[in-house]
Amino acid sequence: MQKVGSTTTTYYDVLGVGREATPEEVRNAYRRQASQLHPDRYAEASHAQRLEAANGMARVNAAWDVLGDLQRRRRYDGQLTTLLEWETAALGNVDGEGVYLPPVACEECDAVPTREATVWSVTSKWGIVPRISKQTGIYCHYCGTEIADEYQSHTLKKGWWGPLPMVATVIILIMNRVSRQKWDSLIPAPRGLDLLALPGSPHADTAEMLRRTEQKAETRQYVTG
Ligand SMILES: [Zn+2]
Repeated sequence: MQKVGSTTTTYYDVLGVGREATPEEVRNAYRRQASQLHPDRYAEASHAQRLEAANGMARVNAAWDVLGDLQRRRRYDGQLTTLLEWETAALGNVDGEGVYLPPVACEECDAVPTREATVWSVTSKWGIVPRISKQTGIYCHYCGTEIADEYQSHTLKKGWWGPLPMVATVIILIMNRVSRQKWDSLIPAPRGLDLLALPGSPHADTAEMLRRTEQKAETRQYVTG
């Protein structure tokens, strides 16, 4: 795969096009890759080869989902620069004291990019007092929107009962929406610095994820042993 000048594999790398590629070039590249990885071509192949082709196809489809849509592509481009900077920081960029500077990873799943935001929930107590809980965290697209949705639906179910709780509920529903938007606007982020392992995405491939996890475990053993 062609690289954009970093060790992170981007969707552009997956399709083998540059970041300046026209929509038509992106489309052609997608068609070429998809036809090369088509299951028909692997009908006679070994299980491992078929698995690899299927994983390749999942990757190519994931890349096409983003790069084939102008709006998503623009959003992806906007955050790619930041992502590549984070990666540089993670891969041995050290400050004056020799301290390792990791990128800010998701508190739940280690993905980047992330953003910090707060969500609140309201529970009406005896219809009189609104009891408010809050959670502040640094989360990725998936984890952030999921947590925001949980807090929102809790508030919708338990917050309304009583005049004061109702006022709190209205305010907090709005505040949660703002926080959710912050996470929603992040590109659906891969685990760690790997742009291809997409936790929670429709393209996540269990076999591929397992393979990567094993690979990481092996690397760790190598490093410690
Ligand atoms: Zn996450």
